[in-house]
Amino acid sequence: MTAYKTITLKRGKEESLLRFHPWVFSGAIAKLPDGLEEGDTVRVTAADGRLLGTGHYEVGSIAVRMLTSDDTEITPEFYRERLQRAWELREKLGLIRPDNNTFRLVHGEGDFLPGCVVDIYGNTAVLQAHSPGMHYARHILADALVALPGAGIKNVYYKSETTLPYKARLDPVNDYLIGGFETNVSQENGLSFNIDWLKGQKTGFFVDQRDNRALLEHYSKGAKVLNMFCYTGGFSVYAMRGGAEKVDSVDSSAKAVTLTDANIALNFPGDTRHKAYAEDAFKFLADMPDGAYDLIILDPPAFAKHRSAIKNAMVGYRRINAAAFRKIAPGGILFTFSCSQAISREQFRLAVFTAAAQSGRNVRILHQLTQPADHPVSIYHPESEYLKGLVLAVE
Ligand code: SAH
Repeated sequence: MTAYKTITLKRGKEESLLRFHPWVFSGAIAKLPDGLEEGDTVRVTAADGRLLGTGHYEVGSIAVRMLTSDDTEITPEFYRERLQRAWELREKLGLIRPDNNTFRLVHGEGDFLPGCVVDIYGNTAVLQAHSPGMHYARHILADALVALPGAGIKNVYYKSETTLPYKARLDPVNDYLIGGFETNVSQENGLSFNIDWLKGQKTGFFVDQRDNRALLEHYSKGAKVLNMFCYTGGFSVYAMRGGAEKVDSVDSSAKAVTLTDANIALNFPGDTRHKAYAEDAFKFLADMPDGAYDLIILDPPAFAKHRSAIKNAMVGYRRINAAAFRKIAPGGILFTFSCSQAISREQFRLAVFTAAAQSGRNVRILHQLTQPADHPVSIYHPESEYLKGLVLAVE
């Protein structure tokens, strides 16, 4: 038995752990053991000494991310089993196919591995640690990933330079833990994408929009499409396959526009229906003529990265949606999203409602969208739900 150090909670503070919430907040702790270091695996007990589980300790408002609610040893076998369970779920979801090898294998708390994200791009896994404990477990996780039976994972790229708490001074280096670069082309629903895990945002691709892109494809036939905040052009490529009359992609980043052009060329070489523009969203929307588009996608970056930014974010969502409502062609369809975890589904809907009311147009909700099943949300940890979307018919 490994001798883990023990963190004791204040009286009554065990309630949320008993309801399987996977975090211990620093304010709940009565006593930290001597010599405890960030990233250590710890046992957590109630004030009366009752064992509540085992987790990773870190300095900050979230003090422990729970791995188990019992005295399980946190061994390489433990991580292997959790990854195996995650893999089996993706198999069950039908995400592992020759024409689809792009998916999220580990979504933190939703896959019982708090602080850990793994995205799969063909035979490369991109591993991201959000906690010191997972940073220290990175080699064990990498070994377990390549050992997953039948998964065929050969390369593990570690990308945590911007996701680990800066104050922990872990100085993580983005690099391959196993293998190296082979190809960056991966498949999503039969479409090919260049994934830039070396320099791109997040793990290189917004895997979380897969189902929503597939839905957009069905609305694309004959449509004039505007994909605003296009990044890698995911929605644009699906719109092209769906038979759009024309597709314009916009992103303020010139690099994103290059990525989008490359992904269109990969799937539809020489197709002149698509154009990409490096421009600010608000400016593009203000300058475009009324009715130029009848299918608009608004998928902005998280306007509220923290709770303190909610008010400004609400203004941002209202303004960007109001601009789309003003300009979209009659009978048009608007796909609008928020990926801000700090903004609730109700708040987002209120911002979009306000924008719609300002435009004075008749608007109906056709679909209410969220993150896909490879981004599961523990029912005890609603915090891991972040993506919200509405598909609206605008008269
Ligand atoms: N829809 C994309 C993900 C969008 S990420 C997908 O499915 O993959 C958000 C994008 O918004 C980033 O690429 C960022 O460069 C871009 N962006 C941020 N601020 C912007 C602005 N003011 N105008 C246009 N694009 C912006």
